[in-house]
Amino acid sequence: MILPILKFPNKYLRAPTEPVSFPLSPEIKKLAKDMIGTVRNADGIGLAAPQVGKSVKVIVINLEKSGVPLMALYNPKIVSKGLKRVEIEEGCLSIPDVFGMVKRPKKVTIEAQNEEGKTIRFSDDGWIARVAQHEIDHINGALIIDHIKKYTQGADIVKEWKEEKVI
Ligand SMILES: [Zn+2]
Repeated sequence: MILPILKFPNKYLRAPTEPVSFPLSPEIKKLAKDMIGTVRNADGIGLAAPQVGKSVKVIVINLEKSGVPLMALYNPKIVSKGLKRVEIEEGCLSIPDVFGMVKRPKKVTIEAQNEEGKTIRFSDDGWIARVAQHEIDHINGALIIDHIKKYTQGADIVKEWKEEKVI
């Protein structure tokens, strides 16, 4: 099932999230499956549960076009960060038409659980690291507009939000 992707300033995007427990409930299994269908359908590279109105710690990373198998991660967190930070343009499915430069650590170590509840830990310094940081931000209620200082597109939209005090 393709789920509607909530758009900023929807309140779910800032809401606290609950960890998921194992074995996964049928609801969470269905959520992950639907999130995978939804991110593929939107041609996005990642999606987090709050973006579809679920306040739980589930993210999917869709870098299949770069040859990376699709990943669903449960209770993901960044456990260490490299010192080197890089600035890359980012957008967000929940913030259409807004893009800007986001500075993040290049290399991170991610710890999460897989669908069997097994803890996995891996490091990356490429696109997986970038997308994981963006999606883990989502489950912590953080958005690219909190990071961007230089907009490459949609600065006028953000200016209006600032005037309306939704940011
Ligand atoms: Zn996003």
